[in-house]
Amino acid sequence: PPKRLVSGEARGDDIDTSIRPLSIAEFVGQASARANLEVFIQAAKTRGDALDHVLFVGPPGLGKTTLAQIVARELGVNFRATSGPVIAKAGDLAALLTNLEERDVLFIDEIHRMSPAVEEILYPAMEDFQLDLIIGEGPAARSVRIDLAKFTLVGATTRLGLLTTPLRDRFGIPIRLEFYTTEELEHIVRRGARIMGIGMTPDGATEIARRSRGTPRIAGRLLRRVRDFALVAGKDAIDRDAADAALTRLDVDRIGLDALDMRYLTTIASSFGGGPVGIETIAAALSEPRDAIEEIVEPFLIQRGFVQRTPRGRLLTRHAFAHLGLAVPSVAEL
Ligand code: ADP
Repeated sequence: PPKRLVSGEARGDDIDTSIRPLSIAEFVGQASARANLEVFIQAAKTRGDALDHVLFVGPPGLGKTTLAQIVARELGVNFRATSGPVIAKAGDLAALLTNLEERDVLFIDEIHRMSPAVEEILYPAMEDFQLDLIIGEGPAARSVRIDLAKFTLVGATTRLGLLTTPLRDRFGIPIRLEFYTTEELEHIVRRGARIMGIGMTPDGATEIARRSRGTPRIAGRLLRRVRDFALVAGKDAIDRDAADAALTRLDVDRIGLDALDMRYLTTIASSFGGGPVGIETIAAALSEPRDAIEEIVEPFLIQRGFVQRTPRGRLLTRHAFAHLGLAVPSVAEL
Protein backbone atom coordinates (compact mmCIF):
# COMPACT_ATOMS: atom_id res chain seq x y z
CA PRO A 1 0.00 0.00 0.00
CA PRO A 2 1.22 3.55 -0.65
CA LYS A 3 2.58 5.31 2.41
CA ARG A 4 0.29 7.82 4.09
CA LEU A 5 0.61 11.51 3.29
CA VAL A 6 1.11 12.18 7.00
CA SER A 7 3.62 9.40 7.65
CA GLY A 8 7.05 10.52 8.76
CA GLU A 9 8.64 7.77 6.65
CA ALA A 10 10.18 8.72 3.32
CA ARG A 11 8.05 8.23 0.20
CA GLY A 12 9.04 8.11 -3.44
CA ASP A 13 7.66 11.58 -4.10
CA ASP A 14 9.77 13.30 -1.42
CA ILE A 15 12.04 15.23 -3.74
CA ASP A 16 13.11 17.77 -1.18
CA THR A 17 16.89 17.80 -1.32
CA SER A 18 16.79 21.51 -2.15
CA ILE A 19 15.30 22.43 1.21
CA ARG A 20 17.55 20.18 3.29
CA PRO A 21 19.53 22.32 5.74
CA LEU A 22 23.27 22.04 5.13
CA SER A 23 24.77 23.52 8.28
CA ILE A 24 24.02 23.35 11.96
CA ALA A 25 23.11 27.06 11.89
CA GLU A 26 20.44 26.43 9.21
CA PHE A 27 18.99 23.49 11.12
CA VAL A 28 15.85 24.60 12.96
CA GLY A 29 14.75 23.09 16.27
CA GLN A 30 16.25 20.26 18.36
CA ALA A 31 18.02 22.91 20.44
CA SER A 32 19.58 20.57 22.98
CA ALA A 33 20.75 18.06 20.37
CA ARG A 34 22.29 20.89 18.37
CA ALA A 35 23.98 22.46 21.36
CA ASN A 36 25.52 19.15 22.44
CA LEU A 37 26.67 18.30 18.93
CA GLU A 38 28.29 21.69 18.51
CA VAL A 39 30.37 21.16 21.64
CA PHE A 40 31.45 17.63 20.71
CA ILE A 41 32.25 18.61 17.12
CA GLN A 42 34.31 21.60 18.28
CA ALA A 43 36.17 19.45 20.80
CA ALA A 44 36.93 16.74 18.22
CA LYS A 45 38.23 19.37 15.79
CA THR A 46 40.39 20.98 18.45
CA ARG A 47 41.89 17.63 19.38
CA GLY A 48 42.29 16.76 15.69
CA ASP A 49 40.59 13.49 16.54
CA ALA A 50 37.59 11.57 15.20
CA LEU A 51 34.25 12.42 16.80
CA ASP A 52 32.91 9.75 19.16
CA HIS A 53 30.26 7.47 17.66
CA VAL A 54 26.84 9.14 17.60
CA LEU A 55 23.43 7.48 17.83
CA PHE A 56 20.31 9.40 16.77
CA VAL A 57 17.06 8.02 18.15
CA GLY A 58 13.62 9.23 17.13
CA PRO A 59 10.59 8.77 14.87
CA PRO A 60 11.04 8.94 11.07
CA GLY A 61 11.31 12.33 9.39
CA LEU A 62 12.71 14.32 12.33
CA GLY A 63 16.11 14.97 10.74
CA LYS A 64 18.41 12.10 11.71
CA THR A 65 19.91 11.71 8.22
CA THR A 66 20.11 15.48 7.79
CA LEU A 67 21.98 15.89 11.08
CA ALA A 68 24.37 13.07 10.19
CA GLN A 69 25.24 14.88 6.93
CA ILE A 70 25.66 18.13 8.83
CA VAL A 71 28.00 16.45 11.34
CA ALA A 72 30.26 15.32 8.47
CA ARG A 73 30.15 18.73 6.88
CA GLU A 74 30.99 20.55 10.11
CA LEU A 75 33.87 18.13 10.70
CA GLY A 76 35.05 18.67 7.14
CA VAL A 77 35.17 14.95 6.36
CA ASN A 78 33.60 12.53 3.88
CA PHE A 79 30.06 11.26 4.42
CA ARG A 80 29.24 7.65 3.52
CA ALA A 81 25.74 6.29 4.00
CA THR A 82 24.11 2.89 4.12
CA SER A 83 21.33 1.24 6.07
CA GLY A 84 20.96 -1.82 8.25
CA PRO A 85 18.73 -3.88 5.93
CA VAL A 86 20.92 -3.10 2.90
CA ILE A 87 24.08 -4.66 4.38
CA ALA A 88 23.52 -8.29 3.43
CA LYS A 89 26.85 -9.85 4.40
CA ALA A 90 29.68 -9.11 6.79
CA GLY A 91 31.86 -8.62 3.69
CA ASP A 92 29.66 -5.74 2.49
CA LEU A 93 30.23 -3.85 5.71
CA ALA A 94 33.95 -4.74 5.64
CA ALA A 95 34.19 -3.19 2.17
CA LEU A 96 32.60 0.03 3.39
CA LEU A 97 34.78 0.19 6.49
CA THR A 98 38.06 -0.41 4.70
CA ASN A 99 37.29 2.43 2.29
CA LEU A 100 36.92 5.03 5.04
CA GLU A 101 39.55 7.72 5.53
CA GLU A 102 40.66 9.14 8.89
CA ARG A 103 37.76 10.88 10.75
CA ASP A 104 35.18 10.09 8.03
CA VAL A 105 31.53 9.69 8.98
CA LEU A 106 29.82 6.40 8.19
CA PHE A 107 26.05 6.74 8.54
CA ILE A 108 23.98 3.59 9.11
CA ASP A 109 20.25 4.24 8.98
CA GLU A 110 17.91 1.73 10.63
CA ILE A 111 20.89 0.34 12.45
CA HIS A 112 18.65 -1.94 14.53
CA ARG A 113 17.94 -3.95 11.38
CA MET A 114 21.47 -5.25 10.80
CA SER A 115 21.90 -9.01 10.83
CA PRO A 116 23.73 -10.46 13.86
CA ALA A 117 26.67 -11.56 11.65
CA VAL A 118 27.12 -8.01 10.38
CA GLU A 119 26.69 -6.50 13.83
CA GLU A 120 29.41 -8.81 15.14
CA ILE A 121 32.10 -7.32 12.92
CA LEU A 122 30.97 -3.81 13.80
CA TYR A 123 31.92 -4.19 17.48
CA PRO A 124 35.75 -4.37 17.08
CA ALA A 125 35.52 -1.81 14.28
CA MET A 126 33.82 0.70 16.58
CA GLU A 127 35.92 -0.08 19.62
CA ASP A 128 39.44 -0.73 18.34
CA PHE A 129 39.15 0.31 14.68
CA GLN A 130 40.01 -3.21 13.65
CA LEU A 131 38.33 -5.78 11.47
CA ASP A 132 38.56 -9.47 12.21
CA LEU A 133 37.75 -11.35 9.05
CA ILE A 134 37.67 -15.05 8.31
CA ILE A 135 39.08 -15.74 4.87
CA GLY A 136 38.34 -19.01 3.13
CA GLU A 137 36.33 -21.97 4.36
CA GLY A 138 36.83 -25.26 6.13
CA PRO A 139 40.38 -26.33 7.15
CA ALA A 140 41.93 -23.67 4.89
CA ALA A 141 40.10 -20.85 6.67
CA ARG A 142 42.25 -18.37 8.53
CA SER A 143 41.50 -15.17 10.32
CA VAL A 144 43.06 -11.86 9.40
CA ARG A 145 43.08 -8.61 11.28
CA ILE A 146 42.88 -5.34 9.35
CA ASP A 147 43.50 -1.90 10.82
CA LEU A 148 40.90 0.69 9.93
CA ALA A 149 41.05 4.46 9.80
CA LYS A 150 39.71 6.07 12.96
CA PHE A 151 36.20 6.90 11.79
CA THR A 152 32.93 8.07 13.33
CA LEU A 153 29.90 5.84 13.12
CA VAL A 154 26.61 7.71 13.11
CA GLY A 155 23.70 5.36 13.66
CA ALA A 156 19.99 6.12 13.39
CA THR A 157 17.10 4.17 14.82
CA THR A 158 13.42 4.79 15.40
CA ARG A 159 13.40 3.03 18.76
CA LEU A 160 16.27 2.59 21.20
CA GLY A 161 14.70 -0.60 22.57
CA LEU A 162 15.26 -2.33 19.22
CA LEU A 163 19.06 -2.10 19.55
CA THR A 164 21.04 -4.85 21.19
CA THR A 165 22.73 -3.75 24.41
CA PRO A 166 26.32 -4.34 23.19
CA LEU A 167 25.67 -2.15 20.16
CA ARG A 168 23.96 0.59 22.19
CA ASP A 169 26.87 0.63 24.66
CA ARG A 170 29.38 1.41 21.92
CA PHE A 171 27.91 4.82 21.14
CA GLY A 172 29.56 7.59 23.16
CA ILE A 173 27.03 10.24 22.09
CA PRO A 174 23.40 9.08 22.18
CA ILE A 175 20.99 11.80 21.06
CA ARG A 176 17.21 11.65 21.22
CA LEU A 177 15.30 13.78 18.70
CA GLU A 178 11.93 15.24 19.72
CA PHE A 179 8.86 16.20 17.73
CA TYR A 180 9.06 19.85 16.60
CA THR A 181 6.88 22.66 17.96
CA THR A 182 4.44 24.45 15.68
CA GLU A 183 6.68 27.55 15.78
CA GLU A 184 9.71 25.54 14.63
CA LEU A 185 7.70 23.97 11.83
CA GLU A 186 6.42 27.40 10.74
CA HIS A 187 10.02 28.43 10.41
CA ILE A 188 10.78 25.33 8.32
CA VAL A 189 7.70 25.88 6.10
CA ARG A 190 8.57 29.54 5.51
CA ARG A 191 12.15 28.63 4.68
CA GLY A 192 10.99 25.87 2.32
CA ALA A 193 8.55 28.22 0.58
CA ARG A 194 11.30 30.80 0.15
CA ILE A 195 13.69 28.29 -1.41
CA MET A 196 10.97 26.90 -3.67
CA GLY A 197 9.88 30.41 -4.69
CA ILE A 198 6.35 30.09 -3.30
CA GLY A 199 4.44 33.04 -1.82
CA MET A 200 3.40 32.29 1.75
CA THR A 201 1.51 34.35 4.32
CA PRO A 202 2.28 33.89 8.04
CA ASP A 203 -1.12 32.29 8.70
CA GLY A 204 -0.63 29.95 5.72
CA ALA A 205 2.64 28.73 7.26
CA THR A 206 0.96 28.31 10.64
CA GLU A 207 -1.81 26.23 9.11
CA ILE A 208 0.62 23.84 7.37
CA ALA A 209 2.83 23.65 10.48
CA ARG A 210 -0.10 22.73 12.74
CA ARG A 211 -1.04 19.86 10.50
CA SER A 212 2.46 18.39 10.11
CA ARG A 213 2.51 16.17 13.23
CA GLY A 214 5.66 17.72 14.63
CA THR A 215 7.63 16.32 11.67
CA PRO A 216 9.69 18.34 9.14
CA ARG A 217 9.42 15.68 6.43
CA ILE A 218 5.62 15.90 6.60
CA ALA A 219 5.77 19.71 6.63
CA GLY A 220 7.81 19.66 3.41
CA ARG A 221 5.45 17.19 1.80
CA LEU A 222 2.29 19.11 2.77
CA LEU A 223 3.92 22.31 1.55
CA ARG A 224 4.46 20.80 -1.90
CA ARG A 225 0.89 19.49 -2.06
CA VAL A 226 -0.64 22.79 -0.97
CA ARG A 227 1.54 24.55 -3.55
CA ASP A 228 0.07 22.34 -6.29
CA PHE A 229 -3.49 23.16 -5.26
CA ALA A 230 -2.72 26.88 -5.02
CA LEU A 231 -1.03 26.82 -8.43
CA VAL A 232 -4.02 25.20 -10.10
CA ALA A 233 -6.38 27.59 -8.30
CA GLY A 234 -4.32 30.48 -9.71
CA LYS A 235 -3.27 31.87 -6.31
CA ASP A 236 0.12 33.51 -6.05
CA ALA A 237 0.44 33.18 -2.29
CA ILE A 238 -0.59 30.45 0.09
CA ASP A 239 -2.72 31.82 2.89
CA ARG A 240 -4.65 30.09 5.65
CA ASP A 241 -7.71 29.45 3.45
CA ALA A 242 -5.68 27.99 0.60
CA ALA A 243 -3.78 25.70 2.97
CA ASP A 244 -6.94 24.64 4.75
CA ALA A 245 -8.84 23.92 1.52
CA ALA A 246 -6.01 21.81 0.10
CA LEU A 247 -5.32 19.86 3.27
CA THR A 248 -9.00 19.21 3.93
CA ARG A 249 -9.31 17.76 0.44
CA LEU A 250 -6.27 15.59 1.16
CA ASP A 251 -8.01 14.29 4.30
CA VAL A 252 -5.55 15.80 6.75
CA ASP A 253 -7.53 17.22 9.66
CA ARG A 254 -6.91 20.41 11.68
CA ILE A 255 -4.19 18.82 13.78
CA GLY A 256 -2.70 16.52 11.16
CA LEU A 257 -4.64 13.35 11.78
CA ASP A 258 -5.64 11.29 8.76
CA ALA A 259 -8.11 8.46 8.17
CA LEU A 260 -5.88 5.82 9.79
CA ASP A 261 -5.42 7.84 12.98
CA MET A 262 -9.16 8.42 13.14
CA ARG A 263 -9.81 4.73 12.61
CA TYR A 264 -7.39 3.91 15.41
CA LEU A 265 -9.03 6.36 17.80
CA THR A 266 -12.65 5.51 16.92
CA THR A 267 -11.95 1.78 17.15
CA ILE A 268 -10.64 2.11 20.69
CA ALA A 269 -13.45 4.51 21.60
CA SER A 270 -16.35 2.61 20.08
CA SER A 271 -15.34 -1.04 20.11
CA PHE A 272 -13.36 -1.09 23.35
CA GLY A 273 -14.99 1.60 25.48
CA GLY A 274 -11.84 3.75 25.37
CA GLY A 275 -9.61 0.90 26.61
CA PRO A 276 -7.40 -0.26 28.08
CA VAL A 277 -6.98 -2.60 25.14
CA GLY A 278 -3.92 -4.57 24.03
CA ILE A 279 -1.92 -3.61 20.95
CA GLU A 280 -2.47 -7.02 19.31
CA THR A 281 -6.24 -6.63 19.63
CA ILE A 282 -6.09 -3.15 18.11
CA ALA A 283 -3.88 -4.36 15.25
CA ALA A 284 -6.32 -7.19 14.50
CA ALA A 285 -9.33 -4.88 14.63
CA LEU A 286 -7.66 -2.43 12.20
CA SER A 287 -6.09 -5.13 9.98
CA GLU A 288 -2.80 -3.26 10.22
CA PRO A 289 0.61 -4.66 11.25
CA ARG A 290 1.39 -4.12 14.91
CA ASP A 291 4.81 -2.61 14.07
CA ALA A 292 3.27 0.03 11.83
CA ILE A 293 0.83 1.04 14.54
CA GLU A 294 3.55 1.23 17.17
CA GLU A 295 6.03 3.08 14.99
CA ILE A 296 3.99 5.46 12.86
CA VAL A 297 0.56 5.87 14.37
CA GLU A 298 1.00 5.85 18.12
CA PRO A 299 4.06 8.04 18.78
CA PHE A 300 2.32 11.19 17.61
CA LEU A 301 -1.00 10.33 19.27
CA ILE A 302 0.82 9.65 22.54
CA GLN A 303 2.82 12.85 22.26
CA ARG A 304 -0.43 14.79 21.64
CA GLY A 305 -1.86 13.27 24.81
CA PHE A 306 -4.60 11.32 23.01
CA VAL A 307 -3.44 7.88 24.05
CA GLN A 308 -1.62 6.45 27.04
CA ARG A 309 0.36 3.24 27.11
CA THR A 310 -0.53 1.46 30.35
CA PRO A 311 0.49 -2.02 31.57
CA ARG A 312 -2.99 -3.25 30.65
CA GLY A 313 -3.03 -1.73 27.18
CA ARG A 314 -3.83 1.49 25.35
CA LEU A 315 -6.13 3.98 26.99
CA LEU A 316 -7.81 6.93 25.26
CA THR A 317 -7.72 10.25 27.11
CA ARG A 318 -10.37 12.94 27.44
CA HIS A 319 -8.60 14.92 24.69
CA ALA A 320 -9.13 12.07 22.26
CA PHE A 321 -12.84 11.84 23.03
CA ALA A 322 -13.11 15.60 22.68
CA HIS A 323 -11.35 15.51 19.30
CA LEU A 324 -13.68 12.74 18.14
CA GLY A 325 -16.68 14.75 19.36
CA LEU A 326 -17.73 11.89 21.62
CA ALA A 327 -18.86 11.91 25.24
CA VAL A 328 -16.22 10.67 27.68
CA PRO A 329 -17.30 7.35 29.21
CA SER A 330 -17.59 7.48 32.98
CA VAL A 331 -14.54 5.40 33.78
CA ALA A 332 -12.58 6.26 36.89
CA GLU A 333 -9.23 6.08 35.08
CA LEU A 334 -10.12 8.89 32.70
P1 ADP B 1 15.08 11.02 9.26
O1 ADP B 1 16.44 10.56 8.83
O2 ADP B 1 14.96 11.28 10.72
O3 ADP B 1 13.97 10.13 8.76
P2 ADP B 1 15.62 13.24 7.45
O4 ADP B 1 16.89 13.77 7.98
O5 ADP B 1 15.67 12.42 6.21
O6 ADP B 1 14.81 12.46 8.60
O7 ADP B 1 14.66 14.51 7.26
C1 ADP B 1 13.47 14.41 6.53
C2 ADP B 1 13.28 15.68 5.72
O8 ADP B 1 12.91 16.73 6.59
C3 ADP B 1 14.54 16.09 4.99
O9 ADP B 1 14.28 16.16 3.63
C4 ADP B 1 14.89 17.46 5.49
O10 ADP B 1 14.97 18.36 4.41
C5 ADP B 1 13.74 17.88 6.38
N1 ADP B 1 14.23 18.32 7.68
C6 ADP B 1 14.53 17.52 8.72
N2 ADP B 1 14.90 18.26 9.78
C7 ADP B 1 14.83 19.55 9.39
C8 ADP B 1 15.07 20.79 10.05
N3 ADP B 1 15.43 20.85 11.33
N4 ADP B 1 14.90 21.91 9.34
C9 ADP B 1 14.49 21.86 8.06
N5 ADP B 1 14.23 20.72 7.39
C10 ADP B 1 14.39 19.57 8.04
